Amino acid sequence: MFSKILIANRGEIACRVIRTARRMGIKTVAVHSEADAAALHVEMADEAVCVGAAPSAQSYLVIDNILKAIRDTGAEAVHPGYGFLSENAAFATALEKAGIAFIGPGLKAIAAMGDKIESKKLAHAAGVSTVPGYLGVIKDDKEAVRIAREIGYPVMVKASAGGGGKGMRIARDDAETREGFRSATSEAKSSFADDRVFIEKYIEEPRHIEIQILADGHGNTLYLGERECSIQRRHQKVIEEAPSPFLDAKTRKAMGEQAVALAKVVDYRSAGTVEFIVDRDRNFYFLEMNTRLQVEHPVTEYVTGLDLVEQMIRVAAGEKLSFGQKDVKLKGWAIEARVYAEDPFRNFMPSTGRLVRYRPPEEGPDVRVDTGVYEGGEISMYYDPMVAKLIAGGRTRDEAIGHMREALDAFHIRGIAHNIPFLAALMAHPRFHEGRLTTNFIAEEYPEGFRSEDTVHDDPRLLVAVAATVHRIVEDRAASISGQLQGHERRVPDDYVALMGGEEFTLTALPTAHGAEVTLGEAVYAVHGDWRPGDALFRGEVNGRAVCIQIDRAGIAWRLNHAGSQADVKVMTPRAAMLHRLMPEKMPPDLSAFLLSPMPGLLVSVAVTEGEDVKAGQELAVVEAMKMENVLRATRDGRIGTIHAAAGASLAVDQKILEFEQANG
Ligand code: ADP
Repeated sequence: MFSKILIANRGEIACRVIRTARRMGIKTVAVHSEADAAALHVEMADEAVCVGAAPSAQSYLVIDNILKAIRDTGAEAVHPGYGFLSENAAFATALEKAGIAFIGPGLKAIAAMGDKIESKKLAHAAGVSTVPGYLGVIKDDKEAVRIAREIGYPVMVKASAGGGGKGMRIARDDAETREGFRSATSEAKSSFADDRVFIEKYIEEPRHIEIQILADGHGNTLYLGERECSIQRRHQKVIEEAPSPFLDAKTRKAMGEQAVALAKVVDYRSAGTVEFIVDRDRNFYFLEMNTRLQVEHPVTEYVTGLDLVEQMIRVAAGEKLSFGQKDVKLKGWAIEARVYAEDPFRNFMPSTGRLVRYRPPEEGPDVRVDTGVYEGGEISMYYDPMVAKLIAGGRTRDEAIGHMREALDAFHIRGIAHNIPFLAALMAHPRFHEGRLTTNFIAEEYPEGFRSEDTVHDDPRLLVAVAATVHRIVEDRAASISGQLQGHERRVPDDYVALMGGEEFTLTALPTAHGAEVTLGEAVYAVHGDWRPGDALFRGEVNGRAVCIQIDRAGIAWRLNHAGSQADVKVMTPRAAMLHRLMPEKMPPDLSAFLLSPMPGLLVSVAVTEGEDVKAGQELAVVEAMKMENVLRATRDGRIGTIHAAAGASLAVDQKILEFEQANG
């Protein structure tokens, strides 16, 4: 067994690998960029080496720098995590030359599976069912149209080197094929420096179901069940689960056996994933093979009881698998939700900044949090915006969903925008409960994007009752402070008026031993919990329903977050409420004449000058954030007034870039 390994990655996956290595008594070396000097994985590892500047192309992706770190620390093996160098054949070759073990598959598998056209040919030859289509490289848009017609619409135009949902276009007619061919080619060229594209049939109502495989270097190759990853946004996974609510034992076995057959063709070793697309009749087709540990591997760990990282390390050290296919038993159900630093209400715009609060839910047998950050740490614009992975399990799917909902309620993040309201809405969605999933789920259920209406609470008055309870507890404590002038002690009233979202509620809140009894019109809410002033979470029961509600102060209001919805509740005495009604309302300023930065980022260019007339749709500026260039365009005709920021400026969210002249606004 190795005595020291290096983890060529960052974030949650580096931390996760370190945890297992430590349990196995193996020393760990972290690598980090200058921006990550204080990151969690650096803190957790026994040693850490800086491998370059903040952009990953200058640090995490520089093979020579990683090799130097290996030499300097004497690490005997490298775990690459996912992304970065994990599927890079040049890196695996360099390690082999240097005599360092790669905790992953052999070169042959990485090279063969790195290319969609080649891997599809291999799969076809191995008897694996593949998506009908054309396996050659397409020359021009004329040929693209001819082939698309042959296959029959709809089709998918795909970059052979593609990954991460890039370089993929659905086409439903000739015109879309021409356009899809052009855009997929150019995207592939700029993202992967490889412009080969091919075309295959687009599978309707597709589900994404993948098989986890595990192989040693002694000829043993097993499949560890499947994961369903159909809940995707723009071809990127959001929710994954194991098992799939769609598969029967027969299909599972057939898919597993085909995955194993494919793995054997490339002498696969280590953990890997064979991705399939499954149609509504349970026909399945090979998509691609990922020759690395997947983001969503924890759900498989839950249902199999295995530690995949441990297995990968053992295999890399030359050990034999200590169990066979018959020993692989799937038990229970697990769901993973990816917690991202992105604003679901602003079209999932990435969010960066300081984690003012970061309190993940407590871990236990049915809740696991794979985290790469800590409270006070920073989400920087250089890397992907993943904050953590939340994994919840149970005996059944319903139980797992229940645990996930509770864990999301308790996940307390402040300082950056995050997608927990969106994840909570998905977990509450009836169609998700029924398991009627396809990769179009999000696009179909949220056609206008995710909006605050999608987070309406099932019992808004419950939130009012909890706010009143919290308020009453704070008032009672204030009244109990010693040293008050005799005869002038503070008296706490029982009657209140609560304001929430423009609605007024007259209520009484009477303290009880643990909480309060709140009467709201006809309804009585027994609010039970041991919340104390300053607590971030209210945990307890309301009329017997278990709740975990996040409590913040927002001006004079109580801000409650529960089940993905947020409510600001002002609790006042009737007199204060009467006076409050007389207060003028502060109107938000009119910002329609401004071009604001939609996200924190770098202002790459400004395409207009002061006094210039612009037409709707014309490019005004380009903002770069998290490696994506965003072109900001005029929404209507007008004349440019003052320009507030110049190219090269780093922008905060909502910072003014320029303003239009008001006169013709
Ligand atoms: P990437 O390597 O970019 O992740 P994949 O080939 O794995 O690309 O495809 C990603 C997703 O795109 C799949 O999960 C599926 O949702 C969708 N997809 C890919 N190919 C097809 C197809 N032929 N028909 C329907 N959907 C597809």
